[in-house]
Amino acid sequence: MKAAVYYAPGDIRVEDRPEPVPTADNLIVKIHCCAICGTDLKLATVGNPRCHPPRIIGHELVGLVTHVGSQVQGFAVGERVTLATTVACGHCQYCVLGLGNMCPNAKPISYDFDGGFAEYLAIPPMALAGGNVIKVPDSVADEAAALSEPLSCGINAQEIAGVQAGDNVLIIGGGPLGALNAELAQASGAAKVMIVQRSEPRLSLLRKIDRVIVVDGAREDVKAVVEAHTAELGADVVIVCAPNREAQEASIQYARKGGAISLFASLPKSDSDITLDSRLVHYGELRLFGASDSRPEHVRKAVRLMADGKIDVAPIITHRIGLKDIHTGLELMEHKKSLKVLVYPAG
Ligand SMILES: [Zn+2]
Ligand SMILES: [Zn+2]
Repeated sequence: MKAAVYYAPGDIRVEDRPEPVPTADNLIVKIHCCAICGTDLKLATVGNPRCHPPRIIGHELVGLVTHVGSQVQGFAVGERVTLATTVACGHCQYCVLGLGNMCPNAKPISYDFDGGFAEYLAIPPMALAGGNVIKVPDSVADEAAALSEPLSCGINAQEIAGVQAGDNVLIIGGGPLGALNAELAQASGAAKVMIVQRSEPRLSLLRKIDRVIVVDGAREDVKAVVEAHTAELGADVVIVCAPNREAQEASIQYARKGGAISLFASLPKSDSDITLDSRLVHYGELRLFGASDSRPEHVRKAVRLMADGKIDVAPIITHRIGLKDIHTGLELMEHKKSLKVLVYPAG
C-alpha cells in the first residue's frame, strides 16, 4: 500500500509499505481521509525527536473497520472510527489523575505507532485499552469526523480556560486551529468571536466563517478593535493559536480584568522565553492557562458536536489532495495558504 513515511527531519517519503497484519488483538482500519496537522508539518521541516522513524505519520483520521481481532470487544467490521492521538499508559500518576494527555509513558499515534497517511492502519491493543478508538455515527460525514481530533484539542483548551455562553472570545492566529477554536467558542454560545490574522490568503479564508469578526493584525489596532466590540472591557477569554512569542506577549493586554488567556499553540524550544507585564496579571487578576493535546473524552465530545451540527467544517477544509501529493499539502500549510488540508489515500 502507499504511505507517507517520516525518515528524518524534513525527509518524508511517499512509498510502498506492506499492509498491516490482522492479529487476534488488533483492529485494521481502511483510511477514508486524514488531515495534515501542524505536527506533521513540523516533522516535514524541523523534525521531532519523539517520532521514531521510519514511521507512517498522520493522526487526524477517519476510516472503516475491516478487521476485528477475536479478542477485541465492542467493535464490528463496517463501523467507522476516529482516534484520540495520545495513547496513555493508564496506570501512572498522571493517568490516575485523569491527565492521560500528559502521561510520561504515552505512545502517540504517528510517533510510536504508524498513522493515517496510508491506505490501512493497524490499531494496537494499547490504543484499544486506552479508549482511544472512537466510533463515528452515520450522521457525521467523513470530513467532519477527520477534524474531530484537532477540534478535541480546542475542547481541552476551552474547558480549561472556562469559555462560557455570553463570553467575548478573542483568537490570536487564524490557522486551522484558530478557525476551529473560533467555531467551538460559537458552539459554546460565545457572544462575539474575534480572530486576528496578519496575512492573506488566510484573512479571506477566515471571512467565509459565519459570524466571526476577522481582524487584520497587520493593519488594524487589535486592542482598539477588541475594546470597540466589548464595551471597552476587553475579551473574557483570549486563545493564542499562533506559535509566536510576540502573540503570547501581547495577549494579556486584550483580556478584561479577571479574564482568561490560553496559550494554545506551543513555541519552538529555542525561542520559548516570553516577557509579560506582571502588573497586568496581578492587578487584573488574569488567569493564564496552558493546554496541550487532548484525551479520548474530548474526542468523543468533538464527535458529538459534529453529530449535532455545531461545527461547520466547510470553510475550514480548504484543500483536498491525494496521498502522492502530500508534499504539496505540506507546502500549502507551511506558506499559510490553507486552513485544513485533507489527504485521501485512495486519491
Ligand atoms: Zn493533530
Ligand atoms: Zn500514564
